[in-house]
Amino acid sequence: MDMSREMPGVFRTLERWILDNGSGADVRHFEVRWGEVRPGKDALPCPQCFLNGDDQPLAPMDIEESPLGSVRPWICSHCKERYDVLLQQA
Ligand SMILES: [Zn+2]
Repeated sequence: MDMSREMPGVFRTLERWILDNGSGADVRHFEVRWGEVRPGKDALPCPQCFLNGDDQPLAPMDIEESPLGSVRPWICSHCKERYDVLLQQA
């Protein structure tokens, strides 16, 4: 499953989550962490666990239809947080 085209949207979603739940410094630290992710090799880091000083992988779920459009949820099995990434506007 090649999801490389979705990555810019995933990053915007996760960065927005950090903005809403952390500080500007957290966002910059998360950007650095994101820059270390090797596409197609490394798991994406969970923002909530990241803010807690932990590094846990996000797992992609199947695409779902929502009132906003198609979304792919990413779920952390550690903290159970879910991040909905909008793929296509309804
Ligand atoms: Zn987590």
